[in-house]
Amino acid sequence: MHEQIEHYDVVILGAGAAGLFCAAIAGARGRRVLVLEKANKVGKKILMSGGGRCNFTNLVIEPENFVSGNPHFCKSALSRYTQWDFIALVERYRIDYEERAHGQLFCQNSAQDILTMLLQECDTAGVTISSRCEVKTIDTVADSICRFSVEFDQGRNTEKVNRSVVCQSLVVATGALSIPSLGGSGFGYDIAEQFSLALTERSAGLVPFMFSDATKLLCERLAGVALEVEVCCNDQSFTENILFTHRGVSGPVVLQISNYWCPGNTVAINLLPYLDANDWLLQSKRDQGHSLLRTVLAQKLPKALVAELQTLWWLNDAERKLTDYSDLRLTELADLVDSWLLKPSGTEGYRTAEVTLGGVDTGGISSRTMEARAHEGLFFIGEVLDVSGHLGGYNFQWAWSSGFCAGQYV
Ligand SMILES: Cc1cc2nc3c(=O)[nH]c(=O)nc-3n(C[C@H](O)[C@H](O)[C@H](O)COP(=O)(O)OP(=O)(O)OC[C@H]3O[C@@H](n4cnc5c(N)ncnc54)[C@H](O)[C@@H]3O)c2cc1C
Repeated sequence: MHEQIEHYDVVILGAGAAGLFCAAIAGARGRRVLVLEKANKVGKKILMSGGGRCNFTNLVIEPENFVSGNPHFCKSALSRYTQWDFIALVERYRIDYEERAHGQLFCQNSAQDILTMLLQECDTAGVTISSRCEVKTIDTVADSICRFSVEFDQGRNTEKVNRSVVCQSLVVATGALSIPSLGGSGFGYDIAEQFSLALTERSAGLVPFMFSDATKLLCERLAGVALEVEVCCNDQSFTENILFTHRGVSGPVVLQISNYWCPGNTVAINLLPYLDANDWLLQSKRDQGHSLLRTVLAQKLPKALVAELQTLWWLNDAERKLTDYSDLRLTELADLVDSWLLKPSGTEGYRTAEVTLGGVDTGGISSRTMEARAHEGLFFIGEVLDVSGHLGGYNFQWAWSSGFCAGQYV
């Protein structure tokens, strides 16, 4: 084992979306940049994102699309590097992309196009990227508050080289806890704590719900059924698809609301979001009074779901014609359809979560530069911060915007 000491202007920890983008911006300013990545490959989450097509941004980006202890923190970065800036870059590289529902932009071919673009930008800017680098310690260099020494082992387990780098600016872009197999790690939080920065509580976000009660069996029986619903929890609501699975419920609407759900909360599902269920059932009583309730509901909802709802809500009246129901009873049933209450026992956790909620408390970070207020030269960008986006390209836009801001100042 031998040791070398190198000097760089900027060391960036983590070659994910935020780290690579920040490196390219800083390198283009003429800074000597080294990116250290612990995994064998860079940008693993980019490659896995959006089902392999990377939902790289959204046509509509608003601060309301982000969850943070300080909802104002993201505004500055998002306005200084916008979705239009990133779209212009994508177009400059002639990457084919398409707009899907809710303004989401995806690569038409492969997420690899975005990673290749980022690596090309880094290459043009003269950035050095080293993978298989496990950072061990970070210290401030004696008598200076804005110089850091980074020690790390490089190489495969059998042939480790211990390297030391001294830099002026250190950027923590190590991401967060979600999906450990794709690089999820708590290392950024350890660094924050080392420098006495506060952390907010962390939990899995954009994640499916699980159940421990009878709903678990219902979900198992409905596994594979999907439909568009509105889901509400804690004064937030989303209208998109829900998907029943063997473990519980998933689909975009569930991932979205999971960002606002706390353990113990109930979620309310409106099964007919575009219809006044009460008016419709009363009208159906008049128009198709000889039909069964399940037959009428199956005109708008999947048959398998209606069968489960019948067991839950009107089993004793299952064979009665609609005309034999009182208006009051139909109104009660319409209320249930409008607001089916489910109480998840938990989420699937970091194993499948797309993001981590919470992180480095933004109170200690400049929203303009992403630099720690109390530690000149120490920057935090991307998901390690307490800023999490909705589903729909918002998390990548946060990586680009926060990476850009730090890249201007490192
Ligand atoms: C399956 C999946 C699909 C997703 N799809 C989308 C999508 O389509 N659109 C969207 O906007 N968002 C999506 N997201 C969220 C998005 O991927 C993340 O928010 C984004 O990647 C965060 O970027 P980051 O650079 O902060 O962190 P990351 O991309 O996680 O990068 C952090 C990097 O740091 C490295 N690292 C960790 N610890 C160390 C260490 N000690 N030393 C050196 N390196 C270290 C990791 O290996 C990793 O490469 C998805 C997430 C997942 C899990």
